Amino acid sequence: MKCNIEYIGKSRQGITKYYCTVHKSFAYDKLGNKLDECLWDNKEIYNNKLSIQQNEIQNIKVRYENILESVIPTIIINNDEFNGVLEYDNSILTYKDFGGIMLSKLNNVPLEIVKCSHCGRYHSDNGQFAYTPHRTHLCLYCGHLFRVKEKNIGSELAMIYNIPEIKLNDKLLKIDDYCCVEYDMLKGTMLINSQNVDRILFEGKEITIVDFLNHFLEKEF
Ligand SMILES: [Zn+2]
Ligand SMILES: [Zn+2]
Ligand SMILES: [Zn+2]
Repeated sequence: MKCNIEYIGKSRQGITKYYCTVHKSFAYDKLGNKLDECLWDNKEIYNNKLSIQQNEIQNIKVRYENILESVIPTIIINNDEFNGVLEYDNSILTYKDFGGIMLSKLNNVPLEIVKCSHCGRYHSDNGQFAYTPHRTHLCLYCGHLFRVKEKNIGSELAMIYNIPEIKLNDKLLKIDDYCCVEYDMLKGTMLINSQNVDRILFEGKEITIVDFLNHFLEKEF
């Protein structure tokens, strides 16, 4: 699918900003020049849309094969690898939204229905915003900032599904150079290298799974 790049205003530093409404991504360089293509790097996933209303979803799994090397997960829907986006009404959900819900659930934060006052579409928070309540949200559909009354965190997935909390066992696991994270969204289970643990020993330090994943995925919004 081709980009649709729109001017969305100026930054505080006076740089012109452009946004691609097709791939939910910015489309300008450091100097404020409009790019021919937006900065989203795997555009092909938008060619494959799965409608949640027309297809029965039994399970959604998110697997980071080795999160130490790549923060782009494999998505598995109904036990098949799915290289696309989920569609529901006006919502289009990508692997970043699945990663976002994983972080929100891991951090046990309340998720609210948040709507962009500019374009009227619903809002999902990913990366560090999935566990840090905030008042100014960046709408991923139109690229505009909008403000809400009280700090909160939005999720479209939580509007569609009843997503359970993640229960981790009180257990420590040593991680060397391989760390596979498997999250089953509708069951609420998470495995690290096939084990259910709440802490890891990584680079000689003990760290909780929550802090570890918050840190690794903070920029994935
Ligand atoms: Zn684009
Ligand atoms: Zn919007
Ligand atoms: Zn937000």
